[in-house]
Amino acid sequence: MIQHTPVMRICISCKKTYDRKDLFKITKDHKQGIMIQKGTGRSAYICKSNKCYSDSKIKKKLQKALKTSLEPAFLEIFAKEITSYINNPNKGI
Ligand SMILES: [Zn+2]
Repeated sequence: MIQHTPVMRICISCKKTYDRKDLFKITKDHKQGIMIQKGTGRSAYICKSNKCYSDSKIKKKLQKALKTSLEPAFLEIFAKEITSYINNPNKGI
């Protein structure tokens, strides 16, 4: 019998392990730059707890995890994407 094990990832903010489905995935896409919940490349994960995604140090942590520098507008876009995702979880981003 094949057991289906969820893919576990660590939140870069609280360092807790979660099912990948329950995390926001931020990817540094090879071609398109930083993407949320899509893209291929180096990725970092943040859990859906308000404490983590609105962490004042989240940008620094992301930059370290993705080994890149994020544009100043990133946090604004990030907050907007996450808010819209939380308000419409079925719509996606
Ligand atoms: Zn977290």
